[in-house]
Amino acid sequence: MDAIILGAGIAGLTASYHLKRKGFSFLLLEKTLRCGGCLHTVTTNGTLLEKGPNSFLSSHDTLMAHAKELGLTGEMIQARESSKNRFVLRRGKLISFPTSPAQFLKTPLLTPLGKLRLILEPLIAARSLNGEESIAQFVTRRLGKQALNLVKPMIHGIYAGDCEHLSIQAVAPKITEWEREYGSLFKALKKTRLLSQGQTLYSFKGGMQTLTDALYQTIQKHCQLECQDIAITKLKEGWKVQWKHQGGLREEEARVLILGLPAFEAARLLEDSNPGLALQLNTVPYAPLAVIHLVVERSFINHPLNGFGFLSGAGGKNFLLGCLWSSSIFENRCPDSLALLTCFVGGAKNPTILQEGEDQIISKVLNELRQIFGSSFRIEEASLTRHTKALPQYTLGHPKKLEKIRAHLQKSPGLYLTGNYWEGISVNDTMKNAVHVASLI
Ligand SMILES: Cc1cc2nc3c(=O)[nH]c(=O)nc-3n(C[C@H](O)[C@H](O)[C@H](O)COP(=O)(O)OP(=O)(O)OC[C@H]3O[C@@H](n4cnc5c(N)ncnc54)[C@H](O)[C@@H]3O)c2cc1C
Repeated sequence: MDAIILGAGIAGLTASYHLKRKGFSFLLLEKTLRCGGCLHTVTTNGTLLEKGPNSFLSSHDTLMAHAKELGLTGEMIQARESSKNRFVLRRGKLISFPTSPAQFLKTPLLTPLGKLRLILEPLIAARSLNGEESIAQFVTRRLGKQALNLVKPMIHGIYAGDCEHLSIQAVAPKITEWEREYGSLFKALKKTRLLSQGQTLYSFKGGMQTLTDALYQTIQKHCQLECQDIAITKLKEGWKVQWKHQGGLREEEARVLILGLPAFEAARLLEDSNPGLALQLNTVPYAPLAVIHLVVERSFINHPLNGFGFLSGAGGKNFLLGCLWSSSIFENRCPDSLALLTCFVGGAKNPTILQEGEDQIISKVLNELRQIFGSSFRIEEASLTRHTKALPQYTLGHPKKLEKIRAHLQKSPGLYLTGNYWEGISVNDTMKNAVHVASLI
């Protein structure tokens, strides 16, 4: 056999899809009952719940290209125009998040001095030193301290991370390139026409899992779900994989082994055959996240929900990281008389929240939402999904960690790693990494 791939998340499925196109013989092994990993859509009583990713952008080229190839263009749905409105929760109030230069000038989220400092960005000299900076250091240096209050909620919301610890070079290499190339972020935005082009937000009619289901369809014959106690052994040439399936012990050998697993899980499997590599993989930290879905009688919400949702403001003592107004973003997410809210708690700054009981977490979320949406706010249904190790954190030193991991891989012919800890955590970036890995084989 040419290859064995472990993990049927978007990374493992994408790599498998490309190996099939290249005509390789391969086997994809997944430990759970389902494929898709983080992409997990559940439909109950006419309500569509996303336990993982909710959407992707029109600029997500790899995802868009695969959707087209898989015949999913007709399944794609565009977010409603109103979802361009975004809010920040500050002192119990929702404040519009500025998205255009004019809105930045008007926003109460910055003082006049903060706005002036922001406008002066093109005059700030580009950094001459090499080396890493945290997101907080970078934003403060280029845009001023107050601008950090705008960036922090986004970083909490997207990466479940902490601006003080995440590396700007690892999280947003493009932005540091812009500084080097154009000397200013504003000049770069103008030159690259990013602001004027705008971005469209998409999902699929049947939810994000439509994508992984379609990939799975193409390689189903090569995939085995519910594989337990997977163990790997390095052979003189190639790899041996052993696992249990439906009570029986299975074994296969292949020239190539691709691990489409979270870094800590790849580390666990490689502990015996490649302890040095396992050690490096284990240094990638992960942040926990709980996703709480609330189905609410629409008339009980004292707000038009005319937007994407809100992120919790910097410095606040909010329990929630953010809340997506899922039924406002995409149509047909729940019956018209109801609203579907998707709330997030936890993250790198509040990891212990996930240790609390389900009722306790949901009741804290409701208390916070009542302060925003009024005391009549009552729920029809609530459900909680825990991701104990949800997202890899690209902390300071991440690029060096990846260099060391690459160096180990060079000494391990036939071993390849793919997943969301390499080149970006989005579905698109994870797919891009998997396409690249498949191209190396
Ligand atoms: C709550 C949440 C919301 C998100 N929202 C968005 C969003 O809106 N947009 C966006 O672009 N991205 C979003 N992301 C990020 C994105 O979904 C993930 O980064 C990406 O899907 C990760 O894919 P992966 O294949 O690397 O890992 P995973 O999806 O974790 O897949 C790994 C697979 O390996 C399996 N596995 C684990 N151990 C073993 C083993 N020993 N043997 C075999 N199989 C094993 C797992 O069961 C799983 O199926 C979100 C992530 C989360 C958690």
